[in-house]
Amino acid sequence: MMMIPDNPYLLLTPGPLSTSPGVREALLRDWCTWDRDYNQIVQRIRARLVDLATRQTGQYTSVLMQGSGSASVEAVLGSVIPESGRLLVLANGAYGKRIAQMARVLRLNHEVIDFGETGPVDLDQVSTRLKSAGAQTESAFSHVALVHCETTTGMLNDIAAVGRLVHKAGATYIVDAMSSFGGIPMDIAELEIDFLISSANKCIQGVPGFGFVIGRRDVLASCAGRARSLSLDLYDQWQCMEQNEGKWRFTSPTHVVRAFDQALFELEQEGGIAARYGRYVENHRILVEGMRALGFETLLPDALQSPFITTFYNPESEHYRFEEFYQKLKADGFVIYPGKISQADCFRIGNIGHVFPADIERLISAVERNRYWL
Ligand SMILES: *Cc1c(COP(=O)(O)O)cnc(C)c1O
Repeated sequence: MMMIPDNPYLLLTPGPLSTSPGVREALLRDWCTWDRDYNQIVQRIRARLVDLATRQTGQYTSVLMQGSGSASVEAVLGSVIPESGRLLVLANGAYGKRIAQMARVLRLNHEVIDFGETGPVDLDQVSTRLKSAGAQTESAFSHVALVHCETTTGMLNDIAAVGRLVHKAGATYIVDAMSSFGGIPMDIAELEIDFLISSANKCIQGVPGFGFVIGRRDVLASCAGRARSLSLDLYDQWQCMEQNEGKWRFTSPTHVVRAFDQALFELEQEGGIAARYGRYVENHRILVEGMRALGFETLLPDALQSPFITTFYNPESEHYRFEEFYQKLKADGFVIYPGKISQADCFRIGNIGHVFPADIERLISAVERNRYWL
């Protein structure tokens, strides 16, 4: 029997996350890629992802793509938007801005509405912009992109309400659900999402190495020859996986794929997405109540907050240094995360991954012990 070493600390970050011993054990063997055993695992993963995303499984397919999550976002933008297309990016944080940056690099015809780092998507503004652009066909938006959980702050965007507006405008809807998919129930057919993107190392609780796209079959089928990159050609990757029943075009991250298969099995054992969501909500409740009791304040109001990652203001004390707080918590077994927004002085704590309510209770005790600035 192989020994799985204990982790020195829990990762309370937006990913990579702490993973289970079972997932880490799957990494300890080398696997061949060229026979049916492996390809069947890939096919099983692809089918499970579609099952997790919707009840309308016939309408959707999934494609796995090498690289970190951003590579899959870029694969979608670069492969599905035609040269004549026009993309509207709805941004309220670093990941929305990253989509805009990809659009610039890919030289896509696009426009960005930025709601600010703490501003929710303004539905009236989106509706007005879609309508006014749609009035002249030249400037009509063919695609709209939005981040579900903006990991920068932890804000959960209203993908359902935006989906209705996008659908009304007749555009294709792209959702970066990187840090939410697998951790919150959703049906992408009901949400009218055409392409959803996530990655191995977030709420499914695998390790980093590939991302995946769950997309409408009929829409993806119309994307042949559009890609602006060979490696990130989503259509070609899809065709290769379909025609060769689970084969990747180029070297696939075999260990990561095996670990992901195990992670999907463990998600099922936990009771599926609804049960995992329940655990995350409970983790989050204990976190926020505990931190508030110790005098910390959250950046966002509860109504905008996701149950995945939370931004807290740094304490207003001249003796406080984030670095020192961070090191003390790390020594006690918890890795937290610096803030990522410019408007406020803050830090973040994630509560997804192989992390349980008892862990969050231990964290709160560690925070209480380590308030050296008091
Ligand atoms: C993690 C994450 C990504 C992808 O980041 P990578 O570093 O490329 O894996 C994209 N969008 C959101 C919202 C994320 O949380």
